[in-house]
Amino acid sequence: MPHVSRILVRCALLFGLGWSLSTGWAAQPARPEPKAPAADWKVGVATRKLTPAGPIWMAGYANRAKPSDGVDLDVFAKAVAIEDAQGGRVVIVTLDLVGVPDGLRAYVERHAAEKFGLKPHEILLNASHTHSAPQPYPDRMVLERLFSRMAKQEDVDAVNAFEIFLQKALVELIGESRAAQTPCRMEFSQARAGFAMNRRRPDGKGNYSNNPYPAGPVDQEVPVLKVTTADGKIKALLFGYACHNTTLGGTKISGDYAGYAQQFLETSYPGATALFVMGCGADQNPYPRRGMVPDQSVDELVKQHGRALSNAVSTALNSPLRPIKGPLRSAYDHAILEYEPLSKVQLNNFQGAAHTPAVIERARNLIQALDRGERPKPLPCPVQVVKFGNDLTLVAIGGEVTVDYSLRLKRELKGPAAVWVAGYSNSVFGYLGSRRVIEEGGYEGGGANIRILNHPGPFKPETEDVVIAKVHGLLRQVQR
Ligand SMILES: [Zn+2]
Repeated sequence: MPHVSRILVRCALLFGLGWSLSTGWAAQPARPEPKAPAADWKVGVATRKLTPAGPIWMAGYANRAKPSDGVDLDVFAKAVAIEDAQGGRVVIVTLDLVGVPDGLRAYVERHAAEKFGLKPHEILLNASHTHSAPQPYPDRMVLERLFSRMAKQEDVDAVNAFEIFLQKALVELIGESRAAQTPCRMEFSQARAGFAMNRRRPDGKGNYSNNPYPAGPVDQEVPVLKVTTADGKIKALLFGYACHNTTLGGTKISGDYAGYAQQFLETSYPGATALFVMGCGADQNPYPRRGMVPDQSVDELVKQHGRALSNAVSTALNSPLRPIKGPLRSAYDHAILEYEPLSKVQLNNFQGAAHTPAVIERARNLIQALDRGERPKPLPCPVQVVKFGNDLTLVAIGGEVTVDYSLRLKRELKGPAAVWVAGYSNSVFGYLGSRRVIEEGGYEGGGANIRILNHPGPFKPETEDVVIAKVHGLLRQVQR
């Protein structure tokens, strides 16, 4: 969610280059090529451009004071509809947007059920978390911008129109991807890219600033699902990375590094649709970022990170590929997250003239609820598992998921199937700290929640175990 970025120029660590997993130059004995798997999947893809024709307020950074004023790179929604021989199916929709609003998920669920008979567990919506795309959260935009007089009524109208366009576009996109299904085979591989780095730098006194922190946890894996048609053409490349999509600032529309990675892949592999799945990158930033390298422009940096990621996908395609067999089974539910309520003293700090009427009223309501002895209503966090037989397990969690979740799940689920953990899926409600991050505090640990309009307080440290238990529960369900 909104970040007021702080840029530290002196730390210009160049971590942008993907590296190859090849073992060297010496001639190696020829290995027999693994037999190509049968084309026993039906897969279809569809793409819809989301870039609006005119200016629009953009999401992600709280410090923007005007709507967009041009386009760096078009933003897209893309869908891949996958079906196994027994009719097990899932449609994965990837969005070059900051998040997935609850209302969008609800609309898509309702209409995809009516039109195509899809169940909630057969739909996965993932947002790339680009901070340079149109604002998809109209209510927040109205509250925060209209009051401060930076936004005009016509700006609000543009955001509301975008919401309506987006809802309809996604339902159509799902239909188009299903209609485009042809016999295909699928394979999985992975490589890595090096530009993601932990961004929670401790000062040793219990505070955490948003700055490169190479000693912090990181997940630099790049999982790749390759879809090939029966006649051998690459149809889709679904790939992931766990890193904030925030190389750029400014007011030009762009998919940021993930947008460039998709564009580079679609150029390198003509006819293929490249779809980016955001991982657990809530506490990870792409480094270096703007202003960190004295003689490198941000326009060059964003392409460098995009190229590092697309090259990691190419590396994965040249690594051993694992055939993906069925059956495809999925499950979807919500982990119920409890809040740690703010105290009356903390809430009283939101009563001053510096706050908007919406914040003041919200603080008043929370104080009254506290006086009545009520606990804040818990938040339902979507959790989804998609199991491709014993070959690949995809876990998709809602919110801005911190990297500990993906590292823990890859540890706990280690077994015959490869494990892919996505964050920013199905509802992006704000930060989902791990126990460690919540106990440490700072922005991702609860600081961002104490803006009170969106949340009544930080989540409890037990949050991590509640989410992980839900993942295990859903996996037991699909393995039955
Ligand atoms: Zn974020």
